[in-house]
Amino acid sequence: MLRVVISGPSGSGKGTIVQELIKYKNYKLSISATTRAKRKTEEDGVHYFFKTIDEFKQMIEQDELLEYTEFCGNFYGTPKSFVDKTIQDGFDILLEIEVNGALNIKEKYHDAILIFIIPPTFTKLKDRLIQRNTETTEVINYRLTRAKEELKLFKEYDYIIVNDDLDQAIKQINTIVESEKLRSFRQKEVIEKMLNN
Ligand code: ADP
Ligand code: 5GP
Repeated sequence: MLRVVISGPSGSGKGTIVQELIKYKNYKLSISATTRAKRKTEEDGVHYFFKTIDEFKQMIEQDELLEYTEFCGNFYGTPKSFVDKTIQDGFDILLEIEVNGALNIKEKYHDAILIFIIPPTFTKLKDRLIQRNTETTEVINYRLTRAKEELKLFKEYDYIIVNDDLDQAIKQINTIVESEKLRSFRQKEVIEKMLNN
């Protein structure tokens, strides 16, 4: 089963993309823990597990997080247990996380697939963040500055998807996942079974 990391600058469309992808039955989405304030459109336990800083620190101390990072003044982390259970249950897991988290996952799991979602232009990124209307101008500017740093790390990723047309981006990600499943190192069991018959 695959660990698929969906990463990219804030506003590039990661959230929109993963919500579309989970409509396909093979994917499960990891729900992160965060100390960020809940947006009006969000629900605890659905979009994030919203935590106080003390609660988050406790999760770190108790080794409950697969990876965690600080992003624009808030903590974000991936709970370990759900990811492990999903893989055991035979599903592909989607991790929608920022760049540091993506690199930490690749270090732990060399076969994780890192997909970088980028907007068609920087202007469109800004427009999308403004139009989403979930952050103050100050936070948007902070995130745009951060986006420039994140974009420089594109080479660390296995695939780059330009999220211009949403349907096309979804199709491309599904194609990547299907092709990755056909990689020879993931077909060992099929060959062994054939040889043993
Ligand atoms: P992220 O999760 O990367 O921060 P979002 O998924 O919240 O980004 O997308 C940011 C904004 O851009 C949202 O308002 C979303 O509806 C819009 N958006 C996402 N993908 C597209 C697209 N392909 N074309 C136009 N708008 C998009
Ligand atoms: P937002 O505040 O817009 O929901 O998320 C800010 C950034 O944090 C996004 O790039 C998002 O992908 C990232 N993020 C969300 N959850 C996690 C996580 O568990 N770990 C890491 N490293 N980043 C995360």
